[in-house]
Amino acid sequence: MDHEEHCRSSGKGRPRRTSQNQREKARESVPRRARKGLAEAQRVFLWFVDPKIVSLAQYIREYFGKSMTINNWNGGGSFNYRGFRDDSFYYKWDSDLSAYKSKRKGKLSQHRMGRAIDFNISGLTCDEVRDEFLKNEAQWLEAGLTTIEDGAYAPTWVHIDIRYTGKDSIFVVKP
Ligand SMILES: [Zn+2]
Repeated sequence: MDHEEHCRSSGKGRPRRTSQNQREKARESVPRRARKGLAEAQRVFLWFVDPKIVSLAQYIREYFGKSMTINNWNGGGSFNYRGFRDDSFYYKWDSDLSAYKSKRKGKLSQHRMGRAIDFNISGLTCDEVRDEFLKNEAQWLEAGLTTIEDGAYAPTWVHIDIRYTGKDSIFVVKP
């Protein structure tokens, strides 16, 4: 399934412009920016969230019919980097060096490309959610999900992404 078809299959017959509602959903996939003046940065972050991951998240929500948590900073929670991750996740300012210093690995993470989310589904364990993906692989591949993280590496969240794998099965990654 190509990109256009995927958009069409989740829309109403033809590609639509991003609605207010979809933008609101995409907001759950960007980090919080508390300081005034950085609202602009947050708006820019939305440019990096692949619309396919937003549609897929909505598809998952409807599939399970339960509430799904990606980031929750908007409601006062602490989840901030479970969707798109900008440089602030990877670098911090070191005043001794007068330079940004790397604080984490994973700079080629799909989160950095706006193509990954980490989430929880209320009432289900992470393993139950992953099992559902693996049980109905064809359906999920069709919906655009290509990759999940192995449960041993993601005990309290479910990581999914839409990277290109060229595979006809879900890729279970051990990062
Ligand atoms: Zn992740």
